[in-house]
Amino acid sequence: MKSADPHNARTGYGYDVHRLVPGRRLVLGGVEIPSDMGLEGHSDADVLVHAICDALLGAAALGDIGTHFPNTDPQYRGISSLTLLSRVGNLLDAEGYGLLNIDAMVILESPRILPYAEAMRTAIAGALGVSPALISLKATTGEGLGFAGRGEGAAAHAVASIIRI
Ligand code: MG
Repeated sequence: MKSADPHNARTGYGYDVHRLVPGRRLVLGGVEIPSDMGLEGHSDADVLVHAICDALLGAAALGDIGTHFPNTDPQYRGISSLTLLSRVGNLLDAEGYGLLNIDAMVILESPRILPYAEAMRTAIAGALGVSPALISLKATTGEGLGFAGRGEGAAAHAVASIIRI
């Protein structure tokens, strides 16, 4: 087992928004949630996983999700964002980083996603090859305010801490 120097710990932040539209699947944290509306985007539009990807990339100063997986590239059309998350995990792995923890917040008016939180933690942890104990997920509504509150879209914030091991 390698010992880590706490001075090598780094933190990153990610934020993402996707529009809610009829006729799309609602995929959050890699889990499909029954809903009349889904998130619009080039990939599966998993706003939560996109925020987590950006938090991890930010922690390692490796750019952002758009530079690694451009939404103009046909190979990413409809792709599961968990696949992108796995690739981000591999990038950080190659740089010698291990995960300390991720904490994320989804802002969505409806449906309530708490019943799916454990499945999401398991899916996210699985994509990264880490324990679900390192992944914290929380959810709130917009209290009727702003784009999230009006049900026009969903947002997600995430922070990730990594350490060179
Ligand atoms: Mg996105």
